[in-house]
Order: sequence, then structure tokens, then C-alpha cells
Amino acid sequence: MKKMRLRTSMAIHIAFMAALTVFLVSILSRVFISRQFEEYVRQTQKKQADDIAESISSNYDEKNGGWNIDYVHGMGMYALKDGYIIRLYDGSGGLLWDAENHDMALCHKVMNSITEKMQKNRPELHGDFVTYTYAFKANGKSNGSIEISYYTPYYLDENAFEFIEALGQILIFVGVISLIVAVFLGIIIAKRITTPVADVISMTKEISEGNYGERVNVNLKEREIYELADAVNNMASSLEEQEYLRRQLTDDIAHELRTPVTNISSYIEMMIDDVMEPTPERLKSCYAELLRLSGLIKDLERLQNAEADAITLEKTDIDIYSLAKEIMQGFKIGFEEKKIDVKLYGEETHVFADRKRIGQVIANFLSNAIKYTDENGSISVSVTKNDKQAVFSVKDTGIGIPFSEQNRVFERFYRTDKSRTRKTGGVGIGLSISKAIVKAHNGTIRCESEPGAGSNFIVTLPLR
Ligand code: ADP
Repeated sequence: MKKMRLRTSMAIHIAFMAALTVFLVSILSRVFISRQFEEYVRQTQKKQADDIAESISSNYDEKNGGWNIDYVHGMGMYALKDGYIIRLYDGSGGLLWDAENHDMALCHKVMNSITEKMQKNRPELHGDFVTYTYAFKANGKSNGSIEISYYTPYYLDENAFEFIEALGQILIFVGVISLIVAVFLGIIIAKRITTPVADVISMTKEISEGNYGERVNVNLKEREIYELADAVNNMASSLEEQEYLRRQLTDDIAHELRTPVTNISSYIEMMIDDVMEPTPERLKSCYAELLRLSGLIKDLERLQNAEADAITLEKTDIDIYSLAKEIMQGFKIGFEEKKIDVKLYGEETHVFADRKRIGQVIANFLSNAIKYTDENGSISVSVTKNDKQAVFSVKDTGIGIPFSEQNRVFERFYRTDKSRTRKTGGVGIGLSISKAIVKAHNGTIRCESEPGAGSNFIVTLPLR
């Protein structure tokens, strides 16, 4: 199935959400503003009716006990144009002035016009003309009353309808503009987010084709995208490194195999051709070459185990001090051959650990110390503890490790000066295995070294 581009999909979603928001905001504001406006009109109209009644009552002449009919007439005709039909009664209920009597045609015209307009535009109001009575009193007794009829709950004139209409149009206009801006912004945002994702995709394609050199630009604001780009960059770096190490290893193995195999085959060939006698001396030399080969195979097997992450621990209570002492015993010949002065410092230190594995770490440190220390050098092993940890270290006065490489010696196949360390035989996996063992014990491993002066490998293990 053909997949939609992330950018298109995001842009559509953002546009859809923007459209929905704009639509809802427009509809709701139109409804609420109109409703508010109509409520305002209703109150204003009621107040106007009250004001008319108030104004007429204030024109009552108390002394002469009479109503100012001229005033009522002026007011009545004026109010009629605004939709108020007025009737005035005297204290005994006699009709004094009635807008309908006065100009029946105009009254009906006003009433019909309002009713028609409102029933057409606001049929849901079920509005009609309702009469409100205001009773007046002077000197404690009734002196008359006024009836005001107007369209209830409220009515809207031409201007008001135009206002509401215009309001709707403005909201539609604002809505359309906001929608265009939102879609435009949506496209920009989608592009911003998807461009680095597209970069990451193209980089992973490169990686799958074996090109590890590319990197994604990680100068990004969005955290997840930054983390994605960063993770892919790290993956590319580590694959690049692994690839380099793999080539290095193949190279190393080929080199290591070539010399003994060439030596053995040429010796044997010459012996078969009777060019050379198979003296014990020569056979010994062949045997030594075979031993080098089997050593290499052992290294490769160790590597296989470490690769498989097959570190299962058989923990017991062990004393690192006596373990170190025992292992140092096994290296006695190595120390003597190089006239290395070796010392063990410290105290009995018990931890809950795999004896064989921890022994392997100590042996790795010691064999390296011997390999990289010149004759008459010295090695000191120390086993101590503090509140929480057991600490053991193997310190030599050997060639040391350049500062920039002190962390890298724990990487697989890592060897410092290639030509020099090749002679010593290892393929550079001893320390990476040691690190895996220490980590499996929740401990730490580190190296402190002064190039030319010596190295110190230090391990801490949690006390039980
Ligand atoms: P190898 O089998 O090559 O000894 P290791 O993993 O044990 O592999 O060590 C990795 C590299 O670290 C060595 O090749 C060497 O360059 C460096 N190294 C390890 N121990 C020491 C030491 N005590 N002094 C100097 N260099 C060392």
C-alpha cells in the first residue's frame, strides 16, 4: 500500500484541527455575542418603557390635579415610532389619551411591521405585543395609570439586524483568514519536524548499505527529534567503529596466522624434500610456532564467549587478597624471566563474587603488566576496602598508556601502539572481558597511567 508522506499527513491533521477550532470559535462567538446583544436590547427596551412612564408621571400637575395632555400626546407619538403604544387613564379609570385612537393607521402599521419582522427572523421567540400597566399615586391616592404595550421579549429594528448580520460576516472573514494562516503555519511546522526525520531515514538507508560516514545535523529544538538524530548518529559512530575493529581483527588474525603457518610449512616442505634434517631443534621450533597458533585460537575462543555475553556468575564468599596471592604464584616464572620485582599489599577482603571470573580479571592485569613492563621493573598488587567497596589494583612501572587512549583500552580489540603490542601476542580483548566481568558484579574498572612511567588498573566491587 502506498504510504502517505509524514509531512502531508501532519499538515492535513494540523489544518483539520485548525479548521475545526476556527469553525467552533466562529459559531460559538456568533451565538454568544448575538445572545448577549439581544439581552442588552431587551433590557434597554424595558428601561425605555419605564422611562416613558416615569417621564409622563413627572408631568402630573399636583396642584391643579391634572395631566398635561399636550405633553402626553408629544411623548406618545414619539414613543409610537419606537414601537411603544401608550394609553393614559385618570384616577377613576377614564381614558385620557390613547395612541390607537389618535392615529390608528400609524399604530397598526408600526405593530404589523414589528410583528412581521420578528416572526420572520426570530420565530423561536414566540414574541407578541404585551401591555404593562404603571399605576400612579399623588398625595396617597390614585391619580391615574398608564398602559404601555410593546413587543415582548424584545424586538430588533433594521439597524440591529444589520449589526448582527455584519457581526456574522466579520466572524466568517476572521475565520477564513485564521484558517489560511493556520494551514500555512501547519505546513511550516510539519516541514520543520519532518525534514530531520527524512534526514534520519536517508542516513539509515546509507548505513544499511554500509556507508557509516554520514551524520544528521543535531542542531534541533524539538527534544525527541534531537534525541532520535543523536541516537542514529551514535549508532552510526558505533557501527563505524565496529566495522573498523572488525577489519582490524581480520587483518590481525591474517597477520598472526601468516608467520607461523609459513614457517611450519616451509620447514616441513624442506624436511619432506630431504633438504633439511628433522632435528629435535627444528621440530621444537615448529612446535613453538604451533603453540603460537593454538594461543591465537584460544584468544579467538575467549572472544567468542565475550561476544556471546555469556557471563553467568557463580558467586560465593571469596577473599580477594588470598585469591590475588594465589594467582601471582602462577605468574612466578614470568616475573623471574623479566626480573620484575613484585609485591602484594593490603588485607583480607571478602566479597560475594565469582572466584574464577575475578581471578581472570587479576590474571589479565598481571599478564598485561608483565607484557608491558621492561626488565627490572616492578609490579605492586594492592587489595583494600572502605565502607562500601573492596578495591584492588595492579600497578606497574611499564610503558604506560597515552592519556587519550586510557578509556579505550577497555574496548574490544583495542590495542595501543599496534606494531609494538603485536609482538606481545594479544588481540586486545583481555581488558574488554575484564570490564564485562566487573560490570556483571556491579563494580567499576578504570585505568590511571603516566605514559613512559607506568599504569595502574583499579577495580572496585561492592562489599557483600
Ligand atoms: P591484549 O591482549 O592486547 O593485551 P588487553 O585488552 O588486555 O589486550 O589490553 C588492551 C591494550 O591495552 C593492550 O594492547 C595495550 O596496548 C594496553 N595495555 C593493557 N595493559 C597495559 C599495561 N599494563 N601497560 C601498558 N599498556 C597496557
